[in-house]
Amino acid sequence: MSVDESDVRAVAGAIRDAESVVALTGAGVSTASGIPDFRGEGGIWERHDPMDFHIDRFRADPGGFWADRVKLQAAAFDDGNVAPNAAHESLADLESAGHLDTVVTQNIDGLHQDAGSDDVIEIHGSAARVVCRDCRRRFDAEPAMDRAREGDLPPTCDDCDGTLKPDTVLFGEQLPEHALMQSQAKAETADVFLAVGSSLTVEPAASLPRVAAERGATLVLVNLESTPLSERAAYDFRADVTEALPRLRRAVVE
Ligand SMILES: [Zn+2]
Repeated sequence: MSVDESDVRAVAGAIRDAESVVALTGAGVSTASGIPDFRGEGGIWERHDPMDFHIDRFRADPGGFWADRVKLQAAAFDDGNVAPNAAHESLADLESAGHLDTVVTQNIDGLHQDAGSDDVIEIHGSAARVVCRDCRRRFDAEPAMDRAREGDLPPTCDDCDGTLKPDTVLFGEQLPEHALMQSQAKAETADVFLAVGSSLTVEPAASLPRVAAERGATLVLVNLESTPLSERAAYDFRADVTEALPRLRRAVVE
């Protein structure tokens, strides 16, 4: 791995000295847990039609939408048999040690929370929850997913019988405004901004590290490939997230 130990120590020092550290995580953190990339080559959207998961399809045919959603759950999340990896665990450890404020994630799998992270902003929502279209209450997704698997389509709200929708941002839907404003504010005040496993090509993920760097944050990238912000980053670790983050955690905490 092409990451100098001296660079790891320098970043660890910056993290220890920082008032605020923010991590942005993308698909590369999930793929290390065996979850296929959605967008890339060979990704989920080459094998499933994105238009089946458009908000207009959900509105027109929620039962059909849920039947397809069940198939996607098996293909993308191995029906829930996915677990956090060393990258998730390292970020959770950094938070519990007081060296990480917030994880902003593009991922919808809920694995940061499973690893023990408390302060997580999910800018694309979470597949671990469903939301009622009528009363807006949120529930764990698994009971609704079980009912959909058994042919109860679409699953409905226990309280008001409204139609349940996965609490993820579907194609054609706006990103959640509150989560966006929160993540923007975190980026503006970060002293160290870690962008982990993200190609930084999709908004708003692309703009958060740029904003952080413009406001003076030390920008650290951890990704196998170069990104549009590689030139601007103080440290550009081209590395597997499950190797680089445990090294960084050790250098910060031990
Ligand atoms: Zn309801």
